[in-house]
Amino acid sequence: METVANFIHGKCITGDSQRIQAIFNPATGAQIRQVAMSTVQQTEQAIAAAQQAFPDWSRQSPLKRARILFRFKSLLEQHMDSLAKLISEEHGKIYSDAVGELTRGLEVVEFACGIPHLQKGEHSANVGTGVDSHSLMQPLGVCVGITPFNFPAMVPMWMFPVALATGNTFVLKPSEKDPSLAVRLAQLLKESGLPDGVFNVVQGDKEAVDVLLTDPRVQAVSFVGSTPIAEYIYNTASAQGKRCQALGGAKNHCILMPDADMAMATNAIMGAAFGAAGERCMALSVVVAVGSNTADTLCSQLEQKIATLRVGPGLGHQPENEMGPLISSAHRAKVLDYIDSGKAQGATLRVDGSELKLAGNEDGYFVGPTLFDHVTPEMTIYKEEIFGPVLSVVRVADYQSALNLINQHEYGNGTAIFTRDGGTARRFCEEVQVGMVGVNVPIPVPMAFHSFGGWKRSIFGPLNVHGNDGVRFYTRMKTITARWPESHHQQGAAFSMPTLG
Ligand code: NAD
Repeated sequence: METVANFIHGKCITGDSQRIQAIFNPATGAQIRQVAMSTVQQTEQAIAAAQQAFPDWSRQSPLKRARILFRFKSLLEQHMDSLAKLISEEHGKIYSDAVGELTRGLEVVEFACGIPHLQKGEHSANVGTGVDSHSLMQPLGVCVGITPFNFPAMVPMWMFPVALATGNTFVLKPSEKDPSLAVRLAQLLKESGLPDGVFNVVQGDKEAVDVLLTDPRVQAVSFVGSTPIAEYIYNTASAQGKRCQALGGAKNHCILMPDADMAMATNAIMGAAFGAAGERCMALSVVVAVGSNTADTLCSQLEQKIATLRVGPGLGHQPENEMGPLISSAHRAKVLDYIDSGKAQGATLRVDGSELKLAGNEDGYFVGPTLFDHVTPEMTIYKEEIFGPVLSVVRVADYQSALNLINQHEYGNGTAIFTRDGGTARRFCEEVQVGMVGVNVPIPVPMAFHSFGGWKRSIFGPLNVHGNDGVRFYTRMKTITARWPESHHQQGAAFSMPTLG
């Protein structure tokens, strides 16, 4: 059985831990590989490699660093097909969705290629007589990324392209559920000319993570995953004096107004609720329908569309399936429990995906698209993140009640409104307490040159990922104030706070 390796100082090193975890193909339930959980010593080896590589890498000119990223971008494009197949094999998502996630990651690489411009800092001439000020945006040192299973390519690429471009070195700890892609990315970075030690991968779980959070050589931690772990990561890393951004879970609502283009909205909601089997932090899991007619029309249109949605393996089917399996049998069981709880707590189950059995893939971790109507805010399926293909419809009388629901929810990652009324849309953008907002756009994931991040318990830390926030997160500002006087020494010492002179 192939064991997925660590990547330390430019080499694949198979972990020697006794703790081995199986990796499954979620479409078949068959084990395909295994991964050894890194020990404390192996994790420290990766940190040491990154620490050793930092002085040289940080002194490279930004243009030289960018050129390596340009080559990496071109290799990603060249290997897109095999990378997408690897994602689909270990994660389960359909091939075209895997290409989509790689493309969104690639866009961050393209953004980071502009680093000579992004890292220029600021300059003010003559802030006082004969005095100039300029700032340097200096790299931090060893930075760490800890990433979830649901985007094995895109989420690491939210982090390391910007970290490397700004002159940091990096240790990535990918999800132990689909760890292979991280090693391929490391190999492609090496092929692009990245010096050994600048980018390292440690496979593992809490044991490795805790080393990364507490080792004094690590300067900054970027995390994406579930909220309880995000909170733990943020508190632990911050207590150790490290810079930290920790993105957590979500429960994304959309408001469906009575004046919306219903055909467009239904299609958008289908894709956003059931794409990637609902395993996206930006998936729509609650539709707040304003008015009973709106809810009735939506539910009957959704029922028709769900009836023809193609569920099956992410690879090897023509036409391509539209929705793949969940990540693991344990996660499938958890999603089925949520469906049971929705039924038990009185929601109307309009489409039940829990009985789905696919001929030829009986052992795969599939759950069919599921639709609940008449969901209320007290129900568990409303309150908690399900991370599966389960859509809840909540009925309210007016816009204000819909907005209140969203603003009262503990998460604030993404949201959307479907309406033809510009005034309502504009008001929603102003009033909603959520980090990423779509107007007739169901999954408003910001482009690489903007920053991605939610509000409330969907994020811990002040700076979002990529875009300008990403550059700020991975750099430390130093401001230099310089005077080159001809006869300053003749003025003598000054003991009051310097002001404009
Ligand atoms: P997870 O929190 O279980 O795992 C994320 C990472 O943390 C993994 O690398 C894992 O090994 C590590 N980890 C797990 N338990 C740990 C512990 N006790 N101590 C230290 N490290 C630990 O998340 P997941 O199941 O892989 O991913 C799904 C979650 O990620 C969902 O909640 C989803 O909403 C969230 N997510 C959020 C965003 C976002 O941008 N906000 C994006 C993608 C996923």
